[in-house]
Amino acid sequence: MSVNTYFKPENTQPKVQVFTQDLDAGTIEEPPPYLSVVVPVYNEEDNIEPLYTELTAALEELDCTFEVVVVDDGSQDKSYIQLKKVYEHDPRWRILRLRRNFGQTAGLTAGFDAARGQVIVTIDADLQNDPRDIGKLLAKIDEGYDIASGWRMDRKESFLIRRLPSLLANRLISRTTHIQLHDYGCTLKAYRSEVVKNIRLYGELHRFIPAIASSMGVIVCEVPVNDRARRFGKSKYGIWRTFRVILDLITVSFMLRFSTKPLHIFGGLGFVLSSLGVLTAIYLAYVRLVLQEGINDRPLLLLAVLLIIVGVQMISMGLVAEMVMRVYYETGNRAIYAVRERMDQAFKG
Ligand code: UDP
Ligand code: MG
Repeated sequence: MSVNTYFKPENTQPKVQVFTQDLDAGTIEEPPPYLSVVVPVYNEEDNIEPLYTELTAALEELDCTFEVVVVDDGSQDKSYIQLKKVYEHDPRWRILRLRRNFGQTAGLTAGFDAARGQVIVTIDADLQNDPRDIGKLLAKIDEGYDIASGWRMDRKESFLIRRLPSLLANRLISRTTHIQLHDYGCTLKAYRSEVVKNIRLYGELHRFIPAIASSMGVIVCEVPVNDRARRFGKSKYGIWRTFRVILDLITVSFMLRFSTKPLHIFGGLGFVLSSLGVLTAIYLAYVRLVLQEGINDRPLLLLAVLLIIVGVQMISMGLVAEMVMRVYYETGNRAIYAVRERMDQAFKG
């Protein structure tokens, strides 16, 4: 699709072109860069230029090759026009434009799928994160950590609406998951690419990547980073996000604990119940066959039958749950976003 169609998107016939898994494909001529910086953008028109200047300056100071994958998450303002200018000036910036606003998690996922670097850094477009902190995160990855997570020690946002709910949510997440972090919400994080490429995200789950990845045995560290006030544009979130985060936490903690081995829970219980049932039945058989007593009027008989039936049911339920989980994990490759167009030198094929 020609990028010129951007200027009159309303007039163009909507062409349903849903990219699924092909974002990491394409004919790539040069070797992939070491670092991919993924930036989700939603209505950040005034931030694009300062972002380009500041981020490029910070990245050029680092001793590594890099690309910047910007995901325009269905912005309604001039963000895409600004991004187009950047792309024409510097093809190390790769621009994906989603068909509508899918949310920050989907935007980041689209960026992860497209990223080619060994290390992936995520950063907000509003420059609340300081690009000069990227070097500190990369140093931790070099030391052997799989995830280096930014910790905004001195946050510039309002206490009541932002910092207090975030403090409580962070405590709760740390308690529920195996990972202890002070600041899950900070977008500035560095990941080894295989960590994020193996996680399927949906909803608002991006802040739980360290917790979800902990089930893969990754080593996570926290690095104090600079937090700055937003200079242009508005925050996209209000107080409601805290509730959504808490609901997501329930999902994540359930998944972390029970999802991979449901048979162990249902099957274990079923095994205990049916064993009790079989033992009772053996006792009754002894009473009937050896002692030659009638067992028709024994309530124990009913109990034995019930225990065996319930036990067998439990084991089968565990097997069905296992199959459901297999389906969940193995077919979970449906994309949670749809790309409208892209300006990208790495996708000539
Ligand atoms: N963002 C996005 N899609 C959305 C909402 C936000 O891509 O639906 C981007 C936004 O442009 C910014 C980052 O996610 O780069 C963080 O958003 P914001 O600054 O509004 O969050 P806050 O810093 O207030 O937590
Ligand atoms: Mg922000």
